[in-house]
Amino acid sequence: MVYNMKLKDDLRRQILSKVKKIVVKIGTGVLTTDDGCLDKNQIKQLAGQVVELKKMGYSVVVVSSGAIGSGMGELGIEKRPTTLPELQAVASIGQSKLISVYDECFKLHGFHAAQILLTREDFENRQRYLNICNTIHTLFQLNAIPVVNENDTISVDEIAFGDNDALSAFVTNLLNAELLIILSSVDGLYDRYPTAKSKATVIPIVEHVSDDIKNLAFDTKTLMGVGGMQTKLDAASVVTKAGEAVIIANGRTESILKRIMQGENLGTLFLPNKEKLTSRKRWIGYTMKSKGTIYVDTGAVCALSEKGKSLLASGIVSVEGDFNKGDIISISSKEDKIVFAKGLTNYSSEEIEKIKGRSTLEITKVLGYKLYDEVIHRDNMVIL
Ligand code: GLU
Repeated sequence: MVYNMKLKDDLRRQILSKVKKIVVKIGTGVLTTDDGCLDKNQIKQLAGQVVELKKMGYSVVVVSSGAIGSGMGELGIEKRPTTLPELQAVASIGQSKLISVYDECFKLHGFHAAQILLTREDFENRQRYLNICNTIHTLFQLNAIPVVNENDTISVDEIAFGDNDALSAFVTNLLNAELLIILSSVDGLYDRYPTAKSKATVIPIVEHVSDDIKNLAFDTKTLMGVGGMQTKLDAASVVTKAGEAVIIANGRTESILKRIMQGENLGTLFLPNKEKLTSRKRWIGYTMKSKGTIYVDTGAVCALSEKGKSLLASGIVSVEGDFNKGDIISISSKEDKIVFAKGLTNYSSEEIEKIKGRSTLEITKVLGYKLYDEVIHRDNMVIL
């Protein structure tokens, strides 16, 4: 859909008028100088803007990168280390520096920086997940700004987010925040590769993070940061599917946060899905890793994704992985092998192996018992 100027402005305003909680993700490129040191002035400036949002009545969480970049600056290392122990050591030096600079800057306005370091595992564990949420909500009541980063010193591949774009999407979904603002060193998502001659312009509104949009993720990685446009678009996809909005904008543009919230047409706005997912469905669909995959026939793909039905044994063709009742499982079409849904299973992989392709009436005959009619009930399923 092509939006004229007026429609664009109205849409922005309408979306922003519903925002109460904002997650602001700040990338390494925005926080460090060209020689890799922390850019204190820049942090001071952004901290002032965050406080301004607080004073405008918003609850704000900052997700800040920069631990590794700041550690490199402290140690005078120019090239980002490549081994895990080195990265973790550099991050531990950098994180303490990073948070102390934030704290210093927030103190100028009478606020504290509250450090929260997380791994992916913390989101997978329901108890910890709820604790993160409670802590952040308690911090909202205090004169404090939560400053979240990945716990780089203990994160290894299996439990890592890998990049803070993903982390910021998880935090947004956890808090049901209505807006994620990703501040980076580019003005937004460009319609073509940006060079001096290409006349590339920033796309003001993206309705849906489609494959065409993903193809616009030109490699804009900085030397210090981890992500690029690709990881930002992945984050935008997760958040908008949960029903919340995302804006990617340039963190070095003057008063960017306030101007965005005043409705100025800056950066790229990713529209939220009309239907908001409940916290439980966000957890099932976008937080938990799945323990296995169920492959289904085309009839089941249609019943699930178009007709809102539950998954029955009759539509199951095969099963992969070793999982128990109550685990989160991916559902994939047997044709194209694309995962299109996730859900909480009522049967283990062993049981599904026996009942696949059978009618619901046959389950008792095959297993000797029947726990449920549905293998995955609709209420426990998310179409991705
Ligand atoms: N956690 C990393 C850091 O603080 C940043 C990861 C990222 O740049 O996305 O350096």
